[in-house]
Amino acid sequence: MEATIAITEAEHKKTKPDPETLQFGKTFTDHMFTMEYTEEKGWIYPEIKPYAPVEIDPAAMVFHYSQSVFEGLKAYKGPEGDIILFRPEENFKRMNRSNRRLRIPPINEELVLDYLRQLLELEKDWVPSAEGTSLYIRPFVIATEPSLQVAPARSYKFLIILSPVGSYYPEGIHPVSIMVEDHFTRAARGGTGTAKTGGNYSSGYTAQSKASSEGHAQVLWLDGVEKKYIEEVGSMNVFFKIDGEIVTPELNDSILEGITRKSVIELLEYWNIPVVEKRITMQEILKAYDEGRLEEAFGSGTAAVISPIGELHWKEHTLIVNGRDTGETTKSLYQTLTSIQTGKEDDPFNWTT
Ligand code: PMP
Repeated sequence: MEATIAITEAEHKKTKPDPETLQFGKTFTDHMFTMEYTEEKGWIYPEIKPYAPVEIDPAAMVFHYSQSVFEGLKAYKGPEGDIILFRPEENFKRMNRSNRRLRIPPINEELVLDYLRQLLELEKDWVPSAEGTSLYIRPFVIATEPSLQVAPARSYKFLIILSPVGSYYPEGIHPVSIMVEDHFTRAARGGTGTAKTGGNYSSGYTAQSKASSEGHAQVLWLDGVEKKYIEEVGSMNVFFKIDGEIVTPELNDSILEGITRKSVIELLEYWNIPVVEKRITMQEILKAYDEGRLEEAFGSGTAAVISPIGELHWKEHTLIVNGRDTGETTKSLYQTLTSIQTGKEDDPFNWTT
């Protein structure tokens, strides 16, 4: 059943950008989806309309106490010109987990997925088809009630905007250098790390700019209590291959549960490759490295899908992983996941829609 929704088409359509020169998240399509929440009526006025600035009261609570959540997923152009989504229901499930943590009222996951389908139907010409390109989908919720009270808002706005993105690896997949962050913390125990909320990201900028200024691509985050256990890399989950076994930090209340992470684990299990979720210390990684047992390392996330790690810098140590080459398991995961996402390979898991 299709949900009823008001649609206003844009009078003037923008010129589609050249996928070769696209920068991530800088170009937006002709339309967006919006709906409102009021305490009395719940989520109302679902609407697709021309992409445009939204008018918000300067006292809207999102500006003051950051009550907001977001999601990120991609639509790909399939071989027959069809539009493919990868596990979108997982994103809306996660959005509701984030909502719960931020005291934002839940959305109806099925309805919202249907609204997204209708938006994509209207914007199908914006899904690029060149190798590695996609249409990035950004659903988000903001607190709109004009009030300076430190308390959950009573009104919200939910929006979906779309942005065509170029290939993450225009020159082919290559391993990056990572700085292990010893001082700054991404997420504290009992904090908001499991939610996709803006503050978790802006609070990482200082560490990221320190890493960038030292020539590293990303930060590897350790736990916020002992600075001992590995949590995530940049805004990706992280995996290591040690002695033929894949290990990844077990979920806790400061790690964001990635949909790519979940898919990597399910795919490895399907391939009968041993995969273990457990607490891992940086010391254990160093020991495995010194003993020649650290075979591969990579991050996983929607943006890059799989991002190989070539170097890890921690205190006075430099660990060169797999001679800075992309490992075999890393490569297979990247190839299989991207082939499933773009409909080039069978999807034995029914992940794609
Ligand atoms: N960790 C963080 C902090 C993230 O922002 C993301 C991106 N959503 C991920 C991990 C990876 O999640 P996913 O695989 O769902 O993109």
